[in-house]
Amino acid sequence: AKNRGRARYEVFDPSMHIHALRQLHLENDLRRAIERDELVVYYQPIISLTTGSLQGVEALVRWRHPQQGMVSPAEFIPIAEETGLIVALDQWVLNAACEQMRLWQQEYPYLEPITVSVNLSGRQFSQPDLIKKIDSILNQTGLEGKYLKLEITETVLIENPNSAAEMLQQLIERKIQVCLDDFGTGYSSLGYLHRFPLDILKIDRSFVSNIEQNRSNSSIIRTIITLARELGIRVIAEGVETQEQRLFLQSLGCHYGQGYWFSPPIDSTKLSNLMTNKLHT
Ligand code: C2E
Ligand code: CA
Ligand code: CA
Ligand code: CA
Repeated sequence: AKNRGRARYEVFDPSMHIHALRQLHLENDLRRAIERDELVVYYQPIISLTTGSLQGVEALVRWRHPQQGMVSPAEFIPIAEETGLIVALDQWVLNAACEQMRLWQQEYPYLEPITVSVNLSGRQFSQPDLIKKIDSILNQTGLEGKYLKLEITETVLIENPNSAAEMLQQLIERKIQVCLDDFGTGYSSLGYLHRFPLDILKIDRSFVSNIEQNRSNSSIIRTIITLARELGIRVIAEGVETQEQRLFLQSLGCHYGQGYWFSPPIDSTKLSNLMTNKLHT
C-alpha cells in the first residue's frame, strides 16, 4: 500500500483501514502491556569468531499479546516511538536485562563473564535523565557497568553530536560500552567515527547476506573492519546465517558474529541451558 501513498482514494482502501485499526488497537494495548507483564526479553548470543566462545548477548524485546500472540518488535517498536511509549519500554527492557544478567552471574560464577547489550531508541538516548535512570538500575540490580553495552544508531550521533558526545563521556565513566547498531545503513559516513568514543560497530545484516556472491559487499565489510581496527573499535557482523558467511567474516578479520547460524534470540531459560551446555562440550 505504501507505493500508492499519494493516491487520493487511498483513504477508502479497506486494507488500509484494517491496518490503521490494528495500529490503533496495538497502540492502546501497548500502553498496558508493561503493567500486564506481557513483554518478555529474549537473548541472542554474540560469538567470538576466533575462539567460538560466547562473548555476550543482545536483549531483544518480545510482546506476548493475549489475543494476537507474539507481535514482532518490527511492528510495535515504531508505534512505541511514535507515541513516546518507547521511553518506558526501553527502560523496562534495560531493567529486565540487567536483572537477568546479574542472576546469571550469581548462578554461574564459574563461567567466563559475558555482557548484555540493550537497544536504546534515539528518543531514549536524548532524555536528559537517562544517566540517572541507568545509575539507579545498576544500583538496584547490582550489575557493574562493565557488563552492560548500549546499542544506538548513527542517527543519534549525527543529529545531536554535542549531547551525544557528552552522554558517551558519562557512559565511559561508568565503563558502559557503546555499540553502533545497523552500521552502513544510515549515513554510511566513516568520517565521523573518530569523533566519538565507540567500542563496537555492528555491521548491518544487509551487508552480510549474500556476502559470498556480492563482491562489493565484502569489500565494504573489509573497509569497515580495517578502519575500525585503526580506531580501536571491535566489529560484530549481524545476521550470520551460514557457515560460509561465518568463515568468510572470520577471514576478513571480523571479531564477532551474531545470527541464526549460531542461535536465534531465545528466552532466558534456553540461554541458561546453552551456557551450561557449552561448559560440558
Ligand atoms: P536490531 O537491533 O538490528 O536486532 C537484530 C534483529 O535481527 C532482531 O530482530 C533479530 O531477531 C534479527 N536477527 C538476528 N539474527 C538474524 C539472522 O541470522 N537472520 C535474520 N533474518 N534476522 C536475524 P527483532 O528481534 O525482530 O528486532 C527487530 C528490531 O527491533 C531490532 O533490530 C531493534 O531495532 C528493535 N528492537 C528490539 N528490541 C528492542 C528494544 O528493547 N528497544 C528498542 N528501542 N528497540 C528494540
Ligand atoms: Ca541492536
Ligand atoms: Ca542491528
Ligand atoms: Ca535495527
